[in-house]
Amino acid sequence: MVNRKEEILKLIEEGYSTAKELARYFNVSLMTIYRDLRELEEEGKIIRRHGNVEIKREEEFKENVCAVCKKDTDLRLAFIYILKGGKKIHACCAHCGLIAYRNINQDSIEIGITRDFITNNPVNIFTSSFVVGGTVSPCCKPPAFVFAEREHAERFAKGFGGYVLDFGEATLKMEELMKIGQRVDISI
Ligand SMILES: [Zn+2]
Ligand SMILES: [Zn+2]
Repeated sequence: MVNRKEEILKLIEEGYSTAKELARYFNVSLMTIYRDLRELEEEGKIIRRHGNVEIKREEEFKENVCAVCKKDTDLRLAFIYILKGGKKIHACCAHCGLIAYRNINQDSIEIGITRDFITNNPVNIFTSSFVVGGTVSPCCKPPAFVFAEREHAERFAKGFGGYVLDFGEATLKMEELMKIGQRVDISI
């Protein structure tokens, strides 16, 4: 019997992009497909964003230079905007990601993704909770951290300080903390 996960990879290559489509194709439950997708994701073969699945291409592994500070981006902290048309803007962390947002045409942004600081799961930047500032900093200062759950952000801030904010507030707070007088020159 052909390995279903191998088949799934081929189907994704062919354009299948949701668990529902895949479940229908194999005539198995969504749960079964989710389990396969989770394993494929853990193996680094696919990425999931906004309910869609994609083959993880080589370029996803390559270091991408931060559009703001030019540091190589670490996949765990990377903050990525995908623009209409597919162009991507990488930031090394939420700090630079929040700064970048103020400097790109916001209407052109299709997707904003990063990872939850605790679970490492991909999350939608725009619906996440942020902790801006605080006493620990894994990348750029002042730091910013992203959490899918506001409660996690609050507990994190209780321990390490910082402001618990939504995305819009976080961009303003970062600007305030950085006292940015002029636009940052970002390479797109
Ligand atoms: Zn950066
Ligand atoms: Zn950074």
